[in-house]
Amino acid sequence: MPSNTIRICGVAYRVVFVTDEELPDDAGQIQSRHCLIRIRRSAPNDRRAEVLLHEIVHGICYECHLPLDEQTVATLAAGLYGVLRDNPVMRFENMRTGEETP
Ligand SMILES: [Zn+2]
Repeated sequence: MPSNTIRICGVAYRVVFVTDEELPDDAGQIQSRHCLIRIRRSAPNDRRAEVLLHEIVHGICYECHLPLDEQTVATLAAGLYGVLRDNPVMRFENMRTGEETP
């Protein structure tokens, strides 16, 4: 099973991609106490990224003891995903600080 690790508020979470049978009811799931994020492997790549960001927002809420309801998490995650996807400047390597030499 392929896996990756991401850090959420300094805590390492393992990200695993699972079959539809392993995760029949959701596109993604976070098990915060186990530092585990599960994402459906069958989803298109951009959908998997959006779902991962959604689960990351849940992880931030858990790690920071910030109780947000599902609708708020979904709205924040969808909004952030759109901003990151649509604005290459949001990738730090593309940001200009004003200190660049011409
Ligand atoms: Zn959710």
